[in-house]
Amino acid sequence: MRAKIVAGNWKMNKNLSEAKALIKGLKKELKKVKLDKNTRVVIAPSSVNLRSAVNRTKKSVIEVAAQNVSHEKSGAFTGEVSVDMLNDIGVASSIVGHSERRTYYGETDALLAQKVDTVLGKGMEAIFCFGEQLEDRKSNNHFKVVESQIKNALFHLEATSFSNIVLAYEPVWAIGTGETASPEQAQEMHKFIRSLLKDEYGDKVADAMSILYGGSVKPANAEEIFSKPDVDGGLIGGASLKANDFIEIVKAI
Ligand code: PEP
Repeated sequence: MRAKIVAGNWKMNKNLSEAKALIKGLKKELKKVKLDKNTRVVIAPSSVNLRSAVNRTKKSVIEVAAQNVSHEKSGAFTGEVSVDMLNDIGVASSIVGHSERRTYYGETDALLAQKVDTVLGKGMEAIFCFGEQLEDRKSNNHFKVVESQIKNALFHLEATSFSNIVLAYEPVWAIGTGETASPEQAQEMHKFIRSLLKDEYGDKVADAMSILYGGSVKPANAEEIFSKPDVDGGLIGGASLKANDFIEIVKAI
């Protein structure tokens, strides 16, 4: 049975004291929730707060992921953080290919393929994000765009590598805009993504893959989106910054 995952992407928010307070709030609220064994709760604080987050979540179910990681292993890459550095402080997962990285930092499919290889090469998990722009959807090219993003960054991998990958479909027009894909639009795309995996790697890989939806998920819409059969959870931006909101979303899974 594939994992259900609710992951919070804190982006460039929360200084150390705020991060500590949010984790404290999450732990307190989570104590009141009966989580299924199959459910994972992940937070992705900024890189400077990862170590503290790992230490503060050790005795809880909360897992800590990075928001980004270098495609290089080490060396003269000013400002970058390596998989070794993450692994060394107990971070076992990283978001890769978030649309903000693609848009503001020019991350291409080819670079993301390298990042995925570096992350998996370290035995870590990649939460791989992708999704179409508004104009792609308006011109009915959204399936084509998503297909090429996935194929270009992931389809060089062996089937066994997919056990360390989580997919996050995030239509760019729905990120931070308050605009959400309808549950039907999310389901339609997630089903399509699973069919791509099925065609290339077979039923086993496709059925085991957790495919998250991201884009303005909030307590009010989470349950309906998560009720769709191919939606296995969410990658949450804005609503992950408040303990109560994030835990309400966790409860909806
Ligand atoms: C995100 O940044 O991954 C995201 C989905 O943001 P928001 O929930 O704020 O739309």
